Amino acid sequence: MNTELSAIGQALAILGDRWVLLILQRAFLRRVRTFAGWRDELGISESVLSTRLKELVRHDIFTLAAYRDGRTRYEYRLTQRGLDLWSFLVAIQSWERDWADRASLPPLVHDTCGNEARPYLACGSCREPMSARDTHTEQGPLADFSRIGLPRQHRRTVRADARDDLIAYCPDSMEILGDRWSTTLLAAAFLGTRRFVDFQARLGIAPSVLTDRLRRFVELGVFSFTGDGSYRLTDKGLAFFEVFAFLVDWAQRELPAPDGSALTITHKPCGAALDPVLLCTACGRPLRRTDIHYRLS
Ligand SMILES: [Zn+2]
Ligand SMILES: [Zn+2]
Repeated sequence: MNTELSAIGQALAILGDRWVLLILQRAFLRRVRTFAGWRDELGISESVLSTRLKELVRHDIFTLAAYRDGRTRYEYRLTQRGLDLWSFLVAIQSWERDWADRASLPPLVHDTCGNEARPYLACGSCREPMSARDTHTEQGPLADFSRIGLPRQHRRTVRADARDDLIAYCPDSMEILGDRWSTTLLAAAFLGTRRFVDFQARLGIAPSVLTDRLRRFVELGVFSFTGDGSYRLTDKGLAFFEVFAFLVDWAQRELPAPDGSALTITHKPCGAALDPVLLCTACGRPLRRTDIHYRLS
C-alpha cells in the first residue's frame, strides 16, 4: 500500500471495486465465509475472487482461519476492522433504497424495537440528524486527491441476472463507489468544487475521463449541470453524504496516512468532529451491528 496516499485514497483503493463490495455484502448479509460460498453466490471467476480475497486479507479486513470439520478447512472471518464497515454497507443499502428506486431491497429490522428501520445519519455527539449541508470540511494541506493512484481497470460488467438479485444489485452506489475517479469526484463536490476546470485542477484527472464521469453523474441524477457552467450536487447527490461520512470515518480511523492529509469534517450545530451514527427512524436509538438484520425472504 502506498502510504503516501491519504486515508481516503487508501480506502478507495481497497473498497472502490464492485466485487469487493459484493464480497463484503455477502459476508454481512448471508454470513458467507468460504471461497466456494462467494464463488457460488456471486458467479465470480475463481481468479478474480482469489485476488480480491488476498487483498482483503492483506488489508486486515478478513483473516483466514483454520477449523476442523473432519479435516482441516479454512474460512475467511471478518476482523474488527472489517466488521466496522457494517455501517458503511447499511448506508449504501439505505441510500440505494431511498434514491435509486430500489424499494425492493430487503427491509432492515431493528431488533431492539422490533420495527422496520429506515436508518438516518446523525451526529454521534449531539444525536441530531446530520447532512452534507450542516457539516464543515477542511482539507489538510496534503489531502491531495490527485495522488489517489491510477484507477483500476474499468469493470462495468454486472451479471445479466443481477437485476433479480435483491441484495447485490445496487447499481447507482456501484457506479459511484466501484470507480475511484467517481468517488473522488463526489468527494471534491462535497468540498465545494463546482466547475470543470476546478475539478480538473483538484483531481489531476484527464479531461476525457472527467467529461465521461460528469456526464454519468448527470445521467444518474447525482449532479445537475447549471446554466452558469457549474455542476451542483442534487438532493440525491447530497444524500450520498451518508455513505461518504462512513467511508471517511472508517478510513481515517483505520488506515495510517501522512500528517496533513486528513479531511476534518465538523458538525456545525454542535462543533463536534465527524462521528457518524445511524439512528432508527422508529425509536430514535442507534442501529448497532449486533441488533439489526435484513429480512431476507
Ligand atoms: Zn453534532
Ligand atoms: Zn428502533
